[in-house]
Amino acid sequence: MNIILLGPPGAGKGTQARLLEEKYGMVQLSTGDMLRASIKRGEPLGLEAKKLMDEGRLVPDDLMIRMIEDRIQQADCQKGFILDGFPRTVKQAEALDAMLDRHHKNLDAVVELKVDEDALVERVTGRFTCAKCGAGYHSNFKPTKVEGICDNCGSAEFVCRPDDNPETMKTRLKAFHEQTAPILPYYREKGLLKSVDGMASMVNVQQSIEAVLKSLRKG
Ligand code: AMP
Repeated sequence: MNIILLGPPGAGKGTQARLLEEKYGMVQLSTGDMLRASIKRGEPLGLEAKKLMDEGRLVPDDLMIRMIEDRIQQADCQKGFILDGFPRTVKQAEALDAMLDRHHKNLDAVVELKVDEDALVERVTGRFTCAKCGAGYHSNFKPTKVEGICDNCGSAEFVCRPDDNPETMKTRLKAFHEQTAPILPYYREKGLLKSVDGMASMVNVQQSIEAVLKSLRKG
């Protein structure tokens, strides 16, 4: 099964994608993570993207489309994938349709995480991850069990994303409204759009997404 998780920054797409990955073996394809990995490796593509990402603006469509087309052809994606952060424009959505056709793959659903935008800045500005294993935390909603120590690997080093700050969030939300939200009607017309309440607890959001997946298996 191949799905898209759609929602503004901070809606919980990454968290939910990782939960689905663990439980169902579907692969999380996060274009944001791919770009951050490319920056870390010092690749020209990452360096080209970094300035835009730090400003909260979108990276050019062509780069993102190529990145995803390369990725979905890899062997691990045969089990199914969860697109997290792609597509982000109508052009990317159209390109995704064409590439899925070319590679004889289907899109089963687009799950929209509906959230109250006033809560997003708080959600995003408290996020931090373990520098060693990448486990994700939040200073208010999901702190480490022992202060300053990663629950997962015991490391004491943490990092915050440079774009997780209130100023950049304004630009990211603007990009969502102006460039990404128009893909909602695009998928609604295709009968693929399913909406879930993204403000519920992490477990309840997960259950709602799983209910969507179950209904698709039956149908
Ligand atoms: P994310 O981790 O999904 O919040 O993405 C972080 C940043 O990476 C975004 O603010 C964009 O600058 C860039 N980015 C990630 N995915 C895309 C995409 N599909 N199209 C354009 N830019 C993207």
